[in-house]
Amino acid sequence: MHTIKTRRPHLTLVHLIDLDDRKHYYGTKNGEAKAALERMDRRLKEIIAATRAAGTYAETTFLVVGDHGQLDVNTRVRPNILLRAAGLQGK
Ligand SMILES: [Zn+2]
Repeated sequence: MHTIKTRRPHLTLVHLIDLDDRKHYYGTKNGEAKAALERMDRRLKEIIAATRAAGTYAETTFLVVGDHGQLDVNTRVRPNILLRAAGLQGK
């Protein structure tokens, strides 16, 4: 927000990793993920407010995207364990 207000950049790329991080650690439907989503929503609101404060809001295009989709994982396949047990892989 400081940079937007003081430097008025022509391009700003922000990667908010909070939600992705919480989903990886706690699952997609966990309260931690929901709380992270709410924090990200507030951060986006602050970024938009910073452009208003900088006087650049009207000329700013906001693109909000996710870096990937995500599903909870219930099964993990670890083929090296089977290969090692079959004597097909060293330690
Ligand atoms: Zn991820």
